Amino acid sequence: MSGVDVLVAGGGNAALCAAIQAARDGAAVLVVESAPEHARGGNTRHTRNMRLAHDAGNGILTGPYPVEEFLDDLIGVTGGNTDPELARLLLEESTQMWDWMTGNGVAFAKSLEGSLSLGRTNAFFLGGGRAMLNALYRTARHLGVEVAYETEVVEVTLDEDTGRFASATVVDGRGRRRELTAGAFVAASGGFQGNADWMERAWGPEARNFVIRGTANNRGVVLAALDRAGAELVGDPTQCHAVAVDGRAPAYDGGIVTRLDCVPFGIVVNADGIRFHDEGEDFWPKRYAIWGRLVAAQPNQIGYVLIDSTSIDEFMPSVFPPVVADSIAELAEAMGLDGPTVEATVDGFNAACRPGRFEPTELDDCATVGLDPPKSHWARPLLEPPFYGYTLRCGVTFTYLGVRIDRTAAVRMRSGATSPNVFAAGEIMAGNVLGQGYLAGLGMTIGSVFGRLAGAGAAAAATGAPSTVASRPAERPGV
Ligand SMILES: Cc1cc2nc3c(=O)[nH]c(=O)nc-3n(C[C@H](O)[C@H](O)[C@H](O)COP(=O)(O)OP(=O)(O)OC[C@H]3O[C@@H](n4cnc5c(N)ncnc54)[C@H](O)[C@@H]3O)c2cc1C
Repeated sequence: MSGVDVLVAGGGNAALCAAIQAARDGAAVLVVESAPEHARGGNTRHTRNMRLAHDAGNGILTGPYPVEEFLDDLIGVTGGNTDPELARLLLEESTQMWDWMTGNGVAFAKSLEGSLSLGRTNAFFLGGGRAMLNALYRTARHLGVEVAYETEVVEVTLDEDTGRFASATVVDGRGRRRELTAGAFVAASGGFQGNADWMERAWGPEARNFVIRGTANNRGVVLAALDRAGAELVGDPTQCHAVAVDGRAPAYDGGIVTRLDCVPFGIVVNADGIRFHDEGEDFWPKRYAIWGRLVAAQPNQIGYVLIDSTSIDEFMPSVFPPVVADSIAELAEAMGLDGPTVEATVDGFNAACRPGRFEPTELDDCATVGLDPPKSHWARPLLEPPFYGYTLRCGVTFTYLGVRIDRTAAVRMRSGATSPNVFAAGEIMAGNVLGQGYLAGLGMTIGSVFGRLAGAGAAAAATGAPSTVASRPAERPGV
């Protein structure tokens, strides 16, 4: 297994995009995936769509989504905490990815009703992330890419000054340790959210109460190895994408179905029975990604959403049934809360609801008056029994801390050098463009665009041929 041109660590979208591009550019490629074959593909298995800039709709994507609008959206969610050059590069290159993906076997489908109104900006994978991954694996196989499953990269040796790749140590499913050499190395092994100890170091003991929505395999092993080998890190270890998930979600791999979308139609209290944030601040697609962190900041990292019968059909049904009771106090007690306290919170909320015209698809005028925190929209008193409740936990999707890269996805070293043959793509470098915040579908855009660049760069480094998709110099620095 040693002596290939390009060695790729990881088996998700970023890894496969890199492997396919490198193979198309004439390199012999080995993909090393820590998961067994049936569970290959990390977080990518759970995905539904990717965000693409485009100048006109194409029958599936509705209407144009220009690079400039995408950039405004990205700057909005990150608060400008993004590398401006890489952000622009990402969005410009995203215009190529529809053709690249379909050219490599991926099929897209129209978004369905209820899929967060993303039909213009996001291309949905026909059959979801697994089908998309299967298509990429099929293409990779036809191109001669080899895959070593149940094999983990545990160490990476680089020249500390130049960053030149020397070798990677891998351990296979039988515990056999081997040293692999290659002409170039691509790190596409995800974030570190699956590493409970690292999460605890970043967040404190609270992290033990978080749920990981995706694979347990993304434990930051390659990220830590690159750090030890002298790569420069970028991003804040506590920055991540996190959403509110059902408190009964499994510790790992619960996927998309454990997300709860009922928050705007009820109220959310903490373990003390007190509300802590405006549940109706904005449309759920724009706000769902803040609720993971909000819940993480509450006592015991848990929230409780309460709804009455009037609103129970307004949101995507939950995978686990809600707790049901005939009164608020009974509901609270069934969820382990103090009944009278929660009753007082609900009474205060009900009294503050101003009459208005309820309209779930608009920022309506049903708001509270004189309540802190307010509920700005969809505020209707909780009066109609039975009452329903769910516990909410912080569900981490992926972390942003990563290795710093340049426009070719080459890894930068703390020495100031840019590695001639080590590249990174996907979650492991997401922090270059995502300093904070998130835009739905961006994870797959980051993996695809930088995966393709990394694959091209790695093939060029290994074979000596010029890169086929060498990223153009910045046309307009800054954003
Ligand atoms: C429930 C859920 C839904 C999501 N939905 C979307 C969506 O619709 N759109 C979107 O854009 N994003 C979505 N995301 C985020 C998206 O999944 C990621 O941003 C994207 O898949 C990252 O791709 P990646 O290749 O970097 O990582 P992954 O797909 O996670 O792949 C990492 C791979 O590395 C392997 N690995 C880890 N460590 C090692 C090691 N040491 N050695 C060898 N292999 C290793 C893992 O087994 C895995 O195969 C979702 C995430 C989750 C959890």
